[in-house]
Amino acid sequence: MKLLLATSLLAASIATPAWAGKAHEHGAARIDIAVEPGRLVISLESPLDGLLGFERAPRSAAEKRAVESMAATLKAADTLFRIDPAAQCSLGPVTLTSAPLKLGDAKATADDGHGDLDAEFEFACKSAPAFVEVGLFKAFPRLARLEVQTATAKGQRKQVLVRPAQRVDLAR
Ligand SMILES: [Zn+2]
Repeated sequence: MKLLLATSLLAASIATPAWAGKAHEHGAARIDIAVEPGRLVISLESPLDGLLGFERAPRSAAEKRAVESMAATLKAADTLFRIDPAAQCSLGPVTLTSAPLKLGDAKATADDGHGDLDAEFEFACKSAPAFVEVGLFKAFPRLARLEVQTATAKGQRKQVLVRPAQRVDLAR
């Protein structure tokens, strides 16, 4: 019976489309990097724990400052991400969405004590970047693992970055 259950759970997770699952694992986050003509779009999905150490609205002045500092770090995405300089990318809009923090256009979800933040970073680029260095591990000491999915003219790839790795190749 146990084996049967395990098998059906496995089947369920395989059947789930790559984007649908809201995996929530502390210490881990997911980024999608899409190289499109003239632009680069990076999407981040992280449990708030990895960015803040708590997953609810800030209660103290220190927690409010932590939220502000996190938002400022993410909005400075041209520092957070070091993009292949040959591509001459410049930072466009950054969107932060998080229901517990009341950031962006977040849908209220059932409060199970956990909370996420989604961020989208857009860059305008003169040519397709060959790599991105992701500074998330430096900026957020609680993050240890990044699941990275890239979509480029060469196709889609999945890889895992484990602290302190930060380079994501986009040219192959
Ligand atoms: Zn959590």
